[in-house]
Parts: sequence; C-alpha cells; structure tokens
Amino acid sequence: MKRREFIKGAGVCAVAGAGFIAGAPAVHAQQKFRWKMITSWPPRFPVFHTGMEQFAKRVRSMSGGRLSIRVYAGGELAPPLGVFDAVSQGTVEMGHSGSYYWAGKAPELQFFTTAPFGFTAQQINAWFYYGGGIELLHEMYSPFNIITFPAMNTGVQMGGWFNKKIESMADYKGLKMRIPGLGGKVVARAGGNVVLLPAGELYTALERGTIDALEWVGPYHDLKLGFYRAANYYYYPGWHEPGSTLELMINRKAWEKLPADLQAIVEAAAAQSNILGLAEFDAKNGAALNELVTKYKVKLTRFPDDVMKGLHKLTRETLEEEAGKSAKTRKVYEAFQKFAAQVEPWSRMSEGAFMTAKGL
Ligand code: CA
Repeated sequence: MKRREFIKGAGVCAVAGAGFIAGAPAVHAQQKFRWKMITSWPPRFPVFHTGMEQFAKRVRSMSGGRLSIRVYAGGELAPPLGVFDAVSQGTVEMGHSGSYYWAGKAPELQFFTTAPFGFTAQQINAWFYYGGGIELLHEMYSPFNIITFPAMNTGVQMGGWFNKKIESMADYKGLKMRIPGLGGKVVARAGGNVVLLPAGELYTALERGTIDALEWVGPYHDLKLGFYRAANYYYYPGWHEPGSTLELMINRKAWEKLPADLQAIVEAAAAQSNILGLAEFDAKNGAALNELVTKYKVKLTRFPDDVMKGLHKLTRETLEEEAGKSAKTRKVYEAFQKFAAQVEPWSRMSEGAFMTAKGL
C-alpha cells in the first residue's frame, strides 16, 4: 500500500513537473503588470478613493505581486470627469467612476448607476449578478473599448443640502442645483437649473451661492465635506439615487493582455469592493448623521409627500423621454423595467413588509 501511494504521489509530481517545463502558466507566472488607475474622486477621499486603494492592495496580494495598480485621484493624471476618455483611449489601464457622468456621450449608460425611484443596492445587485445586468453593461460599454464591473454602492443617498425650502413643486422653478444623472433631468423638468460639478468644487459653489442646492452622497461624506456650514436645510430621502453603483472601468486591450487568472482576481476584487463600499457607508452614515444633528444642529427635513408624488410623475416622463433617445437606451430601459417588475413585488413582501413591521 505504502509503495503504491508513493508511486501515485510521484506521478502527481511528474505531471506537475511536466506542466512547469512545457506549460504557458509558468511563463505567465513570471510576467508582471504595472497598471495605473484614475478615479473621479479627490485625493484620499473616504470610501470611494480609499476603497480603490484597498482594491489595488488586495489585487497585489492575491496575485502575488504580478498585478500592481497605482491609484491616482481625479485631477492628478486627468480631470475628475475625464476617466471615461482616458480609459477608452488607453491612456491609463483602469478607472473608477459612475456611468451617469457619461450621459452626454452615451445616454444608455445612465441606468447602470441608478435611476430616480429605481433600484436599491440590494435590487441593483440582483439585476447585475442574476438578472442579466452585467452582460448588458458589458454590451453597452463594448463600442468604447471599456470592460466594466460594479465596484461600489452608496446605498440610499440623502436628498441634498438646500438654501431654499422645498414646500411644493413650484419651489424647483429656477433652483440652481448640482445633481447628476437621471435625477438631474427630473429636477430640470421641474424647472430647475441643473449643473454637474465634481466633489472638489461643491463646497465653494454652495458657500458662494453659485448654486442654491446640491446633493452628493450621504451623511458620512457630507460631514467631511462641511456642507452643514454652507446650507440651511438637509433634505431626505434621496429619491434620485436609491442605490448608486460605481464601476471599475478597464481598457479592453489591457484587459485582454491579462492571463485568465489575473482577470479572475480583478473580477473577484471588484465584487468585493461592491460589497465593502456599501457596508462602509451603512456602518458610518448613522454615526455621521447623529453628529450632524447633535453637534452641528443640522435641520433634517423630509420632502413633503406632494413633492415626492410630483417628482415621481416627472420621473416616469423623464425615463420615457430618455428611452426614446436611441435604440440602445430603449433596450437598457426595457431590461431595467422588466427586472423591476420581477424584483419589486418580492422586495415589498420581504424588506418592505419587514421594515414596516419593525416600525421603520
Ligand atoms: Ca449623489
């Protein structure tokens, strides 16, 4: 018996040895990749940028140092909203940003970040991973030579910081607000004057009165950015961004040069970032909200029901209009709506009913 086991063991060694001499994996094992990633976020910006630095660290560790990624903040190698062009053209191998920033180039991409009154984090992840969402995401980015993976989610955001009260839909008329994506189009439809600014420019714009209102993400970021010093009212809920996904963007040529095992590592690390980002926000938003209210005496204000109804109506009109912009946008919108019809009755029965039962 012992001898037979020894022979079997020797056989395994021999096969492994033959693979080492003849096989491509041994060649790949020697090849090292040094990549650059640019983000749309300010340097050391919590969760978004630091999350990508942690992503790079995990990839380096999982690959035994074969894939090393240096992460640059927005503005270091390209403007914060220049990530799409830099990754598409191959100036850098990777980027981290949100699809809705590219609505001007490709309106079909907006739905992959979020839609007003659309999916929560849990729902959009169900769409991406088990509802055909990732396949559709890859299809839509394909003409731009970009491969993307969901790699962070904010959860439900706050409604934003306002220097003018919103008591009825009429208060949106002429309101100068920083708000991106489809939500911004809804505000514009309500008569607002919508602008898109990166994180680094928000505080000054609000403080100087260049804008009357802004939204960013939620209490944790908002506390750090100091918006409570520049605005009177903090509104909720973030009807316009109920679970925004940010993406890891990879230049296709660079991606195709990676051996399959490194591709698998990147994909796994992106999925991990998708979970970790949401968990970090959920863990830290509550404490920050408490600090804003108790220490800085921020006035929390819920949007009136009539305003929510009005925005909901305008959202339906806006999404229909956007869908009419191209065949691709129609295709994404219909896939989004079809999955909503599948997932929402279940969410109502599970999360919704449970939250109500819990008194939340
Ligand atoms: Ca936002």
